[in-house]
Amino acid sequence: MSASELVFKSASELATLIRDKQVSSAEVTRAHLDRMAEVEGAIHAFLHVNEGAVDAAKAVDAKIASGEKISELAGVPVAIKDILCTVDMPSTAASRILEGWIPPYDATVVARSREAGLVPLGKTNLDEFAMGSSTEFSAYGPSRNPWDTDRIPGGSGGGSAAAVAAFEAPIAFGSDTGGSIRQPAAVTGSVGFKPTYGGASRFGAIALASSLDQVGPVSRNVLDAALFHDVFTGYDAKDSTSLNYNWPSMAEAARLGAKEGSLKGLRIGVVKELNGEGFQPGVKALFNELVELATAAGAEIVEVSAPHFDYATAAYYLILPAEASSNLAKYDAVRFGLRVAPNEAATIEEVMSATREAGFGPEVKRRIILGTYALSAGYYDAYYGSAQQVRTLIQRDFENAFAKADVLISPAAPTTAFKIGERVNDPMAMYLNDITTIPANMAGIPAGSIPMGLADEDGLPVGVQIMAGIKKDDLMYKVAATLEALLAEKHGGSVLDKAPRSYALKGGAK
Ligand code: GLN
Repeated sequence: MSASELVFKSASELATLIRDKQVSSAEVTRAHLDRMAEVEGAIHAFLHVNEGAVDAAKAVDAKIASGEKISELAGVPVAIKDILCTVDMPSTAASRILEGWIPPYDATVVARSREAGLVPLGKTNLDEFAMGSSTEFSAYGPSRNPWDTDRIPGGSGGGSAAAVAAFEAPIAFGSDTGGSIRQPAAVTGSVGFKPTYGGASRFGAIALASSLDQVGPVSRNVLDAALFHDVFTGYDAKDSTSLNYNWPSMAEAARLGAKEGSLKGLRIGVVKELNGEGFQPGVKALFNELVELATAAGAEIVEVSAPHFDYATAAYYLILPAEASSNLAKYDAVRFGLRVAPNEAATIEEVMSATREAGFGPEVKRRIILGTYALSAGYYDAYYGSAQQVRTLIQRDFENAFAKADVLISPAAPTTAFKIGERVNDPMAMYLNDITTIPANMAGIPAGSIPMGLADEDGLPVGVQIMAGIKKDDLMYKVAATLEALLAEKHGGSVLDKAPRSYALKGGAK
């Protein structure tokens, strides 16, 4: 097999080849670095390339040669969303305010992936501080969708999704506060899961909204995501919201789901509110086909209604800015990051204000203003208080829905990838795009997206979202793996098999 073919293999295939000593981790890593050098000019998935990647791979090879059992994914390269702290690479959250900042520690999830023998390839692009749905709010320029470089790869984790869909990395870290793993996965034809809140450590994950943030896997198939999930999740004493729970193996669940090939005995809830107005016809059509496929495979389909989901986006865009405005107060030009002094005699307040003015982009400023307003004395109850009440109602909607169904499904995003520039000056249009993904974060439940086909009208990938109850991550993976297998059987392969493998920037692209 030629080195360039390695990049089209899945993480589990690569791990097997490495374990059987058919290829070394160093060779696999070099193949991915070469692929990055070849396509990054058009895709721009990465903000930083790990210069130590090949050395890290060689160290893993040496351990494998000495017979050490490291993990099922040992030697496989991984891309890391630049919201996660890495001790050997800058960690910027795609913001100017953290340009060049190298943290003194690794995020727990990153440390665990290194211990498992995964090889970091670099840091991936995102909307600044993970605020956005397109990566256009990155201070370092947007990433591009491998299916059409004039289009967005989703956001905030568009870099991770684009890296995976452009075969630059077999797996990647994402983070999901309101959909930043699932929506990018949906619009790039890749796979992404958000664990139950508290399932993955947030220690060293640069905080956006602490009560909503979760780190999760991005990949090209369900098994790879599940294997990767098993590597980095689980209790961490350094995160006070981490769940001390004996999690089953997600990989086992995924393998079981793929093998079973039937959905007999499973009640699948179709959420009425997550497939209505504003959903693209091609998205709806594929979703209806998926429901038919699930029915044919023996699932019992139940329609469930979640009336408060209609208010989820509005409530989220109060809770998130409120928490973000407080989390981002630490970028004060004193402790770390950028410092801008307007003149030599400037006071600390003037330095702080000049730094925040220069260091934050427009979307971050918009949310800090929204958040501080929502939390201000006279408005706290009217805005933040009501939003929290809505959050409780959404949680109750889920409880009711899960009394009728084992898992819930919906389209993962209302539309396919939109054009770069189309919504960047229209915050409302950008926010409304998150309608499908936000409810899961509001309730802390696990949710993921797998590709279900290409939309008729534009030939672009569409994802189906699978949601399960709290701590039922294994059920989510199992059902996702069964659906993936049924879809592959029906379409004669996976959606990403049809993805372009070389890219060119078109006329309008910069
Ligand atoms: N698009 C959502 C937002 O802009 C989701 C962000 C995220 O999950 N980090 O807030």
